[in-house]
Amino acid sequence: MTARASHVNPCRYGPRAAASQVTRCKRCWLLEADCLCDKIHSVKTRTRVRIILHSLEARRSTNTGRIAHLLLENSSVDFHGRQDAPITNSFALTPGYLPLLLYPDGAHEVHTVAEKSELPIELIVPDGNWNQAARIGRRINALKDVEHVRLPAMQPIHVLRRGGPERLGTCEAIFRTIGLLEGQDIETELLEQLELFARSMLGERGRRTGREPSKRRSLPTTD
Ligand SMILES: [Zn+2]
Repeated sequence: MTARASHVNPCRYGPRAAASQVTRCKRCWLLEADCLCDKIHSVKTRTRVRIILHSLEARRSTNTGRIAHLLLENSSVDFHGRQDAPITNSFALTPGYLPLLLYPDGAHEVHTVAEKSELPIELIVPDGNWNQAARIGRRINALKDVEHVRLPAMQPIHVLRRGGPERLGTCEAIFRTIGLLEGQDIETELLEQLELFARSMLGERGRRTGREPSKRRSLPTTD
């Protein structure tokens, strides 16, 4: 079952139009002139990905968790930190999956835990800055007993580097995890699409700042 099951439409929390006075594609959130919708496709995975996005982070056009949701059929986004709709008690794990929370403090690497289970993995990914993500893991009741897992040390894709080899952006971390769980081909299919996004985002930033996109080494960080 790979039906798309977004609990909340991310477009409701799109980039702050008033701040930029530009028109963005409602699906890929890139500037309309840079829209990638005819170049990207969603991918079916056995792994279910649950992105938990801090509501403040959701409004940033540079957030990459939403890209993962766009490209993964079996994924959903839940928003944490909204006073009007707290998910502290309502967030529920999906029956039939082994839930694992991807976070750098994990004692074991994700694939070493996953290979001991016959169940598919429900990969829960808190997205936001370090403090926001740590709070998400502690405050959502359904996650309190979920094992934390981490990625092995790996070199980020150059264009997506965010401050050093130990730092992967959220979307790349998700796709590299899927690579470990489901193989290189699907990882490559996803990372190639992520790179299209990265180049468009870097190009946009380059135009804003007057810098050449090719000289930018990293995506604009949100934390
Ligand atoms: Zn688009």
